[in-house]
Amino acid sequence: MKAKMLMSVITLILLACSCGSMNSSLKKENLSGELSIVELDSGVYQVIHSFPWPGNSLIVKLGQSDFVWVDTPYTPEATSSVLEWLYKKHGKSIKITEINTGFHIDNLGGNGELIKRKIPVYGSQLTCELLKTRNKNTMQTMLKWLSSPENKIYYDAYKSFRFYEPTQKFNINEEQVLIIGSEKVEIYFPGPTHTYDNTVVYIPGKKILFGGCMVLSMEAKKAGFVDDGNMKEWPKSLAKVLKKYGDADLVIPGHGSAGNISLLKHSISVLENRGK
Ligand SMILES: [Zn+2]
Repeated sequence: MKAKMLMSVITLILLACSCGSMNSSLKKENLSGELSIVELDSGVYQVIHSFPWPGNSLIVKLGQSDFVWVDTPYTPEATSSVLEWLYKKHGKSIKITEINTGFHIDNLGGNGELIKRKIPVYGSQLTCELLKTRNKNTMQTMLKWLSSPENKIYYDAYKSFRFYEPTQKFNINEEQVLIIGSEKVEIYFPGPTHTYDNTVVYIPGKKILFGGCMVLSMEAKKAGFVDDGNMKEWPKSLAKVLKKYGDADLVIPGHGSAGNISLLKHSISVLENRGK
C-alpha cells in the first residue's frame, strides 16, 4: 500500500514536470562553445546558436534524404558548421530546403552560406522589404546592447554584418504549402506579432510546429525585443495559430526550450498580462 502511494506521488511529480518544456535528458551535441544541437526526436534537430543570445533553428528529416531547415544560426560560419555536421551524419547527397520566418538576424543571418551552397531559401516579400527599410534600425539597437567591452567580438560582427534576402519569395498573405521529401510543410502568417513578418512553419505529418520568435518558451516570463512588433495584435495572432495548429505535439520557440502546445497558451498569457 505504502509503495503504491509512493508510486502515485512520483507519477504526480513526473506529470507536473512534463507539462511544458521538454526534459533535459535529450541528446545534446556541442559543435563549439556557442553552437549546439539537441535531437528532440529521431531526425528532428533543434540548433541552438548563442551569439550572444541563444536562438533556435530547426532541422527536420523528411522522407529518405530531404531536410527542411527553419531559420538559421546568426552567422554564415555557424551555418556552415551545422551543414558539415549534417552532411557527415546523413551523407553528402541530402537535399536541404531553408525557410526564413522573419527578417531578424536570428531568422536569416546564415543565408549567405546557404545561398553560396545553392540551397533554396524561402521567405516572404515582406521579409525582403523589412530587410531594406527596418533592419538598419534594429541592428543599431542590438549594437547599443553589445557596446560593453566584453561583447566586442559580437559588436564587431554585428557592425559589419552582410544580410542576404531569401531566394524563393512569396506573398505573406497567401499560405504556402511546400512538398519536401513527399511531406507537406506549411508556412502560415497569422498577422503581426513580434515582427510584422513573422511566420510559423507546420509539418502536419509529424505534428511539429516551429513557432519562432512569436512563441515564448516556458522559461520566458516576458517578451524580449519588441521594437519591431505589434503588442496589441500579437496575442490575437497567436490565438489564430493555436486554433489552426492546436493538435501540434512539438512546439519550438525562437529562444529557449522546446515543448508542447502549452507554449502558445503561455505566450498569450504573458503578452496579455504585459504591463498589468
Ligand atoms: Zn528572435
